[in-house]
Amino acid sequence: MSQPPNDAEARRQIKPVICYPTQTLPQPDLGLYTAALSTTHVTQTVLAPPRDACAFHVPRGHFFRITSVDGPQVGDLNLWNANDLSERFYSGKTRALHGTHVTTGDRLWSSFPAMRPMATIVEDTLDWYGIDEFGGSVHDVIGTRCDPYTNHLLSGGQYHNCCHSNLTRALASATDLPLQDAEPHVHDVLNVFMCTGFTRDTGQYFMKASPVRPGDHLTLFAEIDLLGALSACPGGDCSAEHSSDVAACYPLQVDVLAPDPATLANWQEPARNGYNRTHGL
Ligand SMILES: [Zn+2]
Repeated sequence: MSQPPNDAEARRQIKPVICYPTQTLPQPDLGLYTAALSTTHVTQTVLAPPRDACAFHVPRGHFFRITSVDGPQVGDLNLWNANDLSERFYSGKTRALHGTHVTTGDRLWSSFPAMRPMATIVEDTLDWYGIDEFGGSVHDVIGTRCDPYTNHLLSGGQYHNCCHSNLTRALASATDLPLQDAEPHVHDVLNVFMCTGFTRDTGQYFMKASPVRPGDHLTLFAEIDLLGALSACPGGDCSAEHSSDVAACYPLQVDVLAPDPATLANWQEPARNGYNRTHGL
C-alpha cells in the first residue's frame, strides 16, 4: 500500500460532478408516447422459454412490452437496427447518460457512429423500487450478460444456456446467419427486471432476488425499426447463481403493440448522430 499524501483527506472530500449532464439531450415527448400507447393493439406475442431466448421485430413507431409470467424471472435484452446489425444497443453509453439503472423516460442509445435513441422506456411497473439500502436497483445497464466463457474460466465446464448463447442462437435463427457469424453481433444487455448494484466496501457487482412478480412489465417505444432478442436468464430471479440449471426459471413474454398511426402523425424517427466523423484530419 502506498503512503497517503498529507492532503489525502482533502482530495477525497472534493465533491463529484456529473460526467454527462443530460439537460441538453433531446427529450422524449412522454405525453405523446403515452397517448399513442393508449390506442395500441397487440400484433405479435412471443415467449422466451426458460433458459432460452426469443427474437422479435418491432417497426419504428410501435411499442414492445416485456412481461413476467409464471414466476420471478430476469431477462437479458439485445437490440439491433433491423436494417443494419452494426447499429446496436450501447449499454455503456446508456449508463453514462442515464445512470446504472433505467426506468420510464430513459432511452436506450445505439452504438457509434449512429448514436441515437433506439427505444424509449414508457412504462415500468417496478419504478416504485428506487434504490434500496444496499445500493441495488432494477433494470441495470452495468452487467454484461452471463456467458459460457466467464463461466468456463471461473468454474470450468461447458454450459450452453447462458444468456450469451441463448441470444446467439436466437439471432442466428432470426437472421439465418451461421452461429459463428451471429455471435459477434451479441452485445452487452439491458438486464430487464434484474436487481443489481455495486457493494459499497469492495465495489463488486452484486445481484439479489428480483422484486419482479408475474404481471410486472417494462414497455418501450421503438424509435427505429428494431430486431430484438430476449433471453430468460438461467439465473431465474438471480437470487443465488446463474450459468447453471440450479435456479427456478420461468418464461418471459414479449408483446409487440401497434398504435393508431394518427397519434404519431407529427413524430419523426431520430436522425443518425450529427458528428461529421473527420476526427480532426
Ligand atoms: Zn443470464
